[in-house]
Amino acid sequence: MSKSVYPAIGTDRSDWILARRPARNAVDPGRPYAFLVEKERSDTGELVPTATVFLTNKECPWRCLMCDLWKNTTTASVPAGAIPEQIEFALRELACQAADSGQTAPQQIKLYNSGSFFDPKAIPEADYRAIAERVSGFKRVIVESHPALVGERALRFRDLLNGQLEVAMGLETVHPEVLERLNKRVTVEQFASAGAFLRTHEIAMRAFVLVKPPFMDEPMALEWGKRSIDFAFECGAAAVVLIPVRPGNGAMEALERAGEFKAPKLRTLEEAAHYGVELKRGRVFADLWDLQLFSSCAECFPERLGNLHLLNDRQTVVPRPTCSVCGD
Ligand code: SF4
Ligand SMILES: [Zn+2]
Repeated sequence: MSKSVYPAIGTDRSDWILARRPARNAVDPGRPYAFLVEKERSDTGELVPTATVFLTNKECPWRCLMCDLWKNTTTASVPAGAIPEQIEFALRELACQAADSGQTAPQQIKLYNSGSFFDPKAIPEADYRAIAERVSGFKRVIVESHPALVGERALRFRDLLNGQLEVAMGLETVHPEVLERLNKRVTVEQFASAGAFLRTHEIAMRAFVLVKPPFMDEPMALEWGKRSIDFAFECGAAAVVLIPVRPGNGAMEALERAGEFKAPKLRTLEEAAHYGVELKRGRVFADLWDLQLFSSCAECFPERLGNLHLLNDRQTVVPRPTCSVCGD
């Protein structure tokens, strides 16, 4: 392997990543930094309106190489009561929007906090009851967590909910060396053990899988994307979300300049998603946010985007004719 610009020693990596960060965004601890409703296919096959509230809270203590979620976080813990207030604000606003547009009320809610819901410095445990009350009308409550923080706190939160708890965890990749270099300080064994804990306690699980993390070329990315999907389902994931890796946090641009990272081709995401859906072991979703970034052809992009929406919504693969412009 040629010499990398990225530190070989684990303890040097966080400093290297932090040194390359651009400024974080200004956020208000009294408000979620975003909220929206979109439809998501449920485990029973319906398209269910799902609210996502992006909570403003203290930055995650991990320093993953590819992460840019810290941009909308605070450097100190938010005061007790702030998180329930943020949820209340988002739900009130979304209810107004739904009333204006005649949409049906969301049945599921994602409380995404740019880190781990079960990190007490991010989400104070004293707020669990108030949070559970705010989301008592939802059939399913989805939160995210690093596998290391999946434990008793998850059970205490589960016990306060009316709906089903689901925990989303980043598996990222099962490639052992690349996973180690991502600086997430997790192993596939720890992921599997967190998955087993959730299963034992009747908490649903979804997994995030990266499509083309750094240090991989396109064929390797597809191969390890597929293996990671397999592993996520073996660990009991009910859904796997494929995330094409993008630059944007400073560290990824540095690797890009050094030739150690290049964003995936749309084709790699499509093939990984097709593979996952055809397994029929659970739902597979492609993350379509800002998807144009991964396309090199304006001619076929709209159709390919449409097909990936169909894949997400119907869990079927739509065959696509070859593009007369790019030939892809
Ligand atoms: S654990 Fe998640 S939120 Fe925390 S740094 Fe890693 S990717 Fe970002
Ligand atoms: Zn094309």
